[in-house]
Amino acid sequence: MVIDGQARSIEEYPTPASYEEFSSHLKRIVQSSCVQGTAIATAGIVNNHRTVIQSPNVQWLNGLHLAHLTEQLTYRRCWVVNDLEAVTMAELRFGALRDVQCGIVESLSTGWGGCTGLRLNDRDYVIPGEPGHVNVGTHSYVCGCGQIGCAEAAFSGGAVRRRIRERFGIRLSDSEDPCSFLDREADTGAEWALQLYDEVATGIGYGWANALNRNSWIKKIIYTGTFAVRGMRYMRLRIEKTIREHTKFPHHKEISIGRSLLWPVGAHLGAAVLFMQCQQCHDRLTRLRSTKHVLSPDVAPDPKISTGARSVKRTSRKKGDGQNNGRNLVHLRRWVPALLRD
Ligand SMILES: [Zn+2]
Repeated sequence: MVIDGQARSIEEYPTPASYEEFSSHLKRIVQSSCVQGTAIATAGIVNNHRTVIQSPNVQWLNGLHLAHLTEQLTYRRCWVVNDLEAVTMAELRFGALRDVQCGIVESLSTGWGGCTGLRLNDRDYVIPGEPGHVNVGTHSYVCGCGQIGCAEAAFSGGAVRRRIRERFGIRLSDSEDPCSFLDREADTGAEWALQLYDEVATGIGYGWANALNRNSWIKKIIYTGTFAVRGMRYMRLRIEKTIREHTKFPHHKEISIGRSLLWPVGAHLGAAVLFMQCQQCHDRLTRLRSTKHVLSPDVAPDPKISTGARSVKRTSRKKGDGQNNGRNLVHLRRWVPALLRD
């Protein structure tokens, strides 16, 4: 639960296996507290902060109108956001990107995600990316996306887990997490473990160097995700060396690489930021709708214009006919399409 930008309480559950399981948790949380609304940060591609288009690791979410269903369940507003975009929003607002104009947030866990955080004229922007599916062409592992050669198929936590299982097979007990086994072996100085970390760190270093060579504005790399957080102590030197050798902008040679200050609650805080922003847009739109006929007091309301913004957009009008009220709503429709679709 987030109150005024502070994470006040966190309850953890295993990832729900169905919408019914998710909704039973949600219903109890919302009923037991005085909450204004719900913001959901989830893995996958999210459309207009309303619908999950695709979530490869939580497949019951695929195509689900999650915001609408949650609003019906809770009788409160709901917005949905990709989890890494939420983390980047929170880093810009509260975390390690507060003091830079531009930085990247990279998540190395089951997959490899990445976003660029940008501040322009005191406004924060999050640009989503797919660094895990940049094709590095140096290996033959098949990625979850179906392609061969993606960075995530060789250098993410999920890839390392799979590679260790392939190497040790039945010698690894089912209950043991391969990445925990890797860390334990690396702690004892086992050569295979240190070599594997070295190879993965080189792949990550190339990936980050390529990102830096494409954007000179980047001033910081923030990493998050269980694999990166736990493994960085073995990988940092190799990553930094690879970046030094392969970046071209002088200020990138010693770029700041730091752990997310908000881990593991960055996505929760970012979702709260999104909720506040969307709620402000919604309130503004509601006010505009209620006052649209007084925006141009010198012009009589056009009887063809209905109160719904969608009808306003469909109404064709010649330039200069004085219907400013309609144009304002059309402009706002482009700005917050999700709000007007409801
Ligand atoms: Zn891929």
